[in-house]
Amino acid sequence: MDDAMTALPLVFDAPRRGMPPRHLADLTREEARAAAADLGQPPFRADQLARHFYRGVTDPALMSDVPAAAREALAEALLPGLLTPVRHQTADGGRTRKTLWRLHDGALVESVLMRYPDRATVCISSQAGCGMACPFCATGQQGLTRNLSAAEIIGQAVAAAAAMANGEIPGGPGRLSNVVFMGMGEPLANYARVRTTLRALLGSAPYGLGLSQRSVTVSTVGLVPAIRRLTDEGMNVTLAVSLHAPDDELRDTLVPINTRWKVGEVVDAADAYARRTGRRYSVEYALIRDVNDQPHRADLLGRLLAGRLAHVNLIPLNPTPGSPWDASLLPAQREFVARLRAAGVATTVRDTRGQDIDGACGQLAAADSVSVPSVAVGPLAGARRELASGGGQGGPSTVEPPVELGAEGDQ
Ligand code: SAH
Repeated sequence: MDDAMTALPLVFDAPRRGMPPRHLADLTREEARAAAADLGQPPFRADQLARHFYRGVTDPALMSDVPAAAREALAEALLPGLLTPVRHQTADGGRTRKTLWRLHDGALVESVLMRYPDRATVCISSQAGCGMACPFCATGQQGLTRNLSAAEIIGQAVAAAAAMANGEIPGGPGRLSNVVFMGMGEPLANYARVRTTLRALLGSAPYGLGLSQRSVTVSTVGLVPAIRRLTDEGMNVTLAVSLHAPDDELRDTLVPINTRWKVGEVVDAADAYARRTGRRYSVEYALIRDVNDQPHRADLLGRLLAGRLAHVNLIPLNPTPGSPWDASLLPAQREFVARLRAAGVATTVRDTRGQDIDGACGQLAAADSVSVPSVAVGPLAGARRELASGGGQGGPSTVEPPVELGAEGDQ
């Protein structure tokens, strides 16, 4: 393994700089209504704004149920524009669409909307960059720029829901059915804001998107205390754990957080989550050729998971720039699957949608680039050109040594 690739520090504490202004989606219903009252408006104005926001309406001029004289002030105070689309890139005949967003401080994040015959899933980012330093992941190699606010995370899902509703994705108008926290960042390292986001995704109108618990998936490297905390929230969303190795020796190198919380502790915490929610968790395992795809590791993983409420989702490694690693060859993939199934472990192989637009798992790096694939440029080409000369990544990640996980106060 290339030592240079594992040299990044683990970073838990996101810099405070760059956090955006307050937004209605950061607030509870009560707080939002109080904020409307503070602006000299009846509290129900907050409900009206919420309804517009969650339907993807951003232009105050379209909020015709709010008196014209109050619209601008209300929107400015409670619905500041936080996400500016820089460009869309599409694949699969338009049914996979990656959006690059610029945040108010210039930081860049991406989300990916994938439409299938029976569902539409958006993969959203919870942080700009990531502090978890996994050497095979493009985002992990960037380091952490900052946490996203709840409204910045929610806004990605709202935009996807609006794109579906407005018929922007081939197949006619439809509904966003699933959200996965598998974009940039480690969601459980931005715990409080991700919890606010979950409440908004599951919440009913006007203060939410009304998604079902099982159609929302939180994916984590395995921050054990945060998994336990999520277990106690009673939200019953689907949990995915990025394992990538059944043994501590290898996992220490592939998922550096393993040096803090070991394989056994991670699966124990996931088991407790499954017992509490009654829902199987997914174990994500990127199959990396000659690194973690050996038959004996399949057997080890099978023994580790047999009898647990787990389902294995194998992901043939998606290539990332500068990485010496490749996806496992097909025969090795098949052997791996066969051995897991023989051990009685439910196993699927994930499709790698969006690989050709660097939109597949682990490929999100949000680098704005002047060379955009010809399939890619949507109606936002002008904005892209404007940004090509500046507005790049936020600064380098913090180099402070890892500290304890930020708790509630991490707002
Ligand atoms: N930080 C969270 C969510 C982000 S990534 C987590 O680690 O779970 C979503 C999934 O993509 C994770 O399982 C991650 O390990 C995986 N992944 C990262 N890089 C990948 C790559 N190059 N190929 C395939 N999967 C990758």
